[in-house]
Amino acid sequence: MKHTVLTLLCLLSLSLPAQSREARYPEFTSGRIPQQLASAEKHMVASANPYATEAGLAILRRGGSAVDAAIAVQLVLNLVEPESSGIGGGGFALLWDAGKQQLSTIDGREKAPMQAGESLFIENGETMNWWEALAGGRSVGTPGVPAMLWEMHQKGGKLPWAALFEPAISLAEDGFEISPKLAHSIANNTNPALGRYDAAWDYFFPGGQALKKGRVVKNPAFADTLRRLAQLGPAAFYKGQIAMDIVDTVRGARDNPGLLSEADLAAYKAVERPPVCAPWRQFRICGMGPPTSGGVTVIQIMKLLEELDYARLTPMSAEFTHWFTQASRLAYADRDRYLADSDFVDVPVEGLLDESYLAGRRKLMREQDTGPLSAGQPPGAETALLDAYSPEPAGTTHFSIIDADGNAVSMTSSIEMAFGSTLMVRGFLLNNQLTDFSFAPTDQDGQKVANRVEPGKRPRSSMSPMMVFNDQGELYMLIGSPGGSRIIGYVARTLLATLGFGLDIQQAIDLPHVVNRNGSTDLEAGTAAESLADALRERGHEVSIRDLNSGLHGIVILDHLLTGGADPRRVGEARGD
Ligand code: GLU
Repeated sequence: MKHTVLTLLCLLSLSLPAQSREARYPEFTSGRIPQQLASAEKHMVASANPYATEAGLAILRRGGSAVDAAIAVQLVLNLVEPESSGIGGGGFALLWDAGKQQLSTIDGREKAPMQAGESLFIENGETMNWWEALAGGRSVGTPGVPAMLWEMHQKGGKLPWAALFEPAISLAEDGFEISPKLAHSIANNTNPALGRYDAAWDYFFPGGQALKKGRVVKNPAFADTLRRLAQLGPAAFYKGQIAMDIVDTVRGARDNPGLLSEADLAAYKAVERPPVCAPWRQFRICGMGPPTSGGVTVIQIMKLLEELDYARLTPMSAEFTHWFTQASRLAYADRDRYLADSDFVDVPVEGLLDESYLAGRRKLMREQDTGPLSAGQPPGAETALLDAYSPEPAGTTHFSIIDADGNAVSMTSSIEMAFGSTLMVRGFLLNNQLTDFSFAPTDQDGQKVANRVEPGKRPRSSMSPMMVFNDQGELYMLIGSPGGSRIIGYVARTLLATLGFGLDIQQAIDLPHVVNRNGSTDLEAGTAAESLADALRERGHEVSIRDLNSGLHGIVILDHLLTGGADPRRVGEARGD
């Protein structure tokens, strides 16, 4: 890592004493913060950070809509949880308009630069090492969040756009406390490249020392960026000085420059996509369509397990766990083969959720673990697409918001890896989302991979913001999580725990994790999930015990009472009035 001389500006901006504010975060020593079920009557925010929850609530109390609150929450998260999401990244959001009874889904996913092609991650004829590809400019896609927030505001905003920037601007100017999660991520080398480039080094290692929890930090460069965006809208980001600085940073990245251009930024548009929905028992479950694999794959898992006898089983039983892993195998197999950016590849969304196709897939589930399963042949599927694997270590954040009129937002937002590309410009980090593409464009026989890099394409995601509606068509639940490709497993299991087993949202989020991505069965270390290992091994599972770091934040509406849950594995908060 490189040491640089601290500027006077940094000294001034990063040296407020921690004692000057009330401690914001509870102790995080065990890696878990016990959370209580939150309840409220009017409105609620569940997010990964108390500052963000507070900002969202402040907007709701001023009469803002769920969309208004979501914008404020996202901007504050960018400041206080910079490792996970922000205007330098992308995301997906479900918006529920209670008045119109209308669900919209917004795609703010990053795009590959027009100059990038399928050899982006090939060097000397070999696919690059993932860790080498991630840091620097090569992996930076055109950010989508500013355009997406604008699009959301056009659809469901009530307060003026600029007002939604106030909480983040004040915190950036007055200072905020470093969270235990951020301090931990810096100190533990979560992204080994953090500090390779000067701007992030100066910000996260002032005076050469990693920022510690409780330290109060200001980010005047970010406040300035936000002021411009507040005044001019997304044009301030996609054109002009900020755009030029982003391009210079990406193209000028020492040892791993990228291809992003001003034309890419100027052309970026967030897109409204059709939601992906399916009936599940008395509910209707809805998610985001391609380019994320999240909605389709979560719903497939749920549908494969629709007939289970939830009254007889318990969520932590070996039997349920086994069936959950088998359904997950089938769904992840289809995901790996068929899911990619539907603007470039024919994704058979309807076929993948077709009842008779799923009935056929369900028959492949056995009492003993089947081992890895292959993708099926859903109606409408092309045969030429190929399985693709790309690792997706955790960054990302999810928040769920409902306002007093019943409008809601379920949004997952990401800069991909913790700290993204580690390139920082004007106070925010740039994503490394292009590493979500398959590095290899073809298989050994030269067949094309669906999720290969192509100019202007969006990399396949696993983000799974979801909404559930009851048999009256009323909004019942909002949920989502970070966690790379494990997001799908976390979200599906939380939905099953709530809708199938009747756990409250906090209990469902607290549940120890079990994930199978069509490989080993992963059990969450240090939890009761470990005690399932023997029973699963007897059923033929290859078991792996590991940290499974979700960030589930959800809301369930029970007879007009809002109940909220926050993930004990993060430092967030669900709160309402
Ligand atoms: N980049 C991942 C995706 O879009 C999310 C990463 C994460 O959750 O950490 O699916």
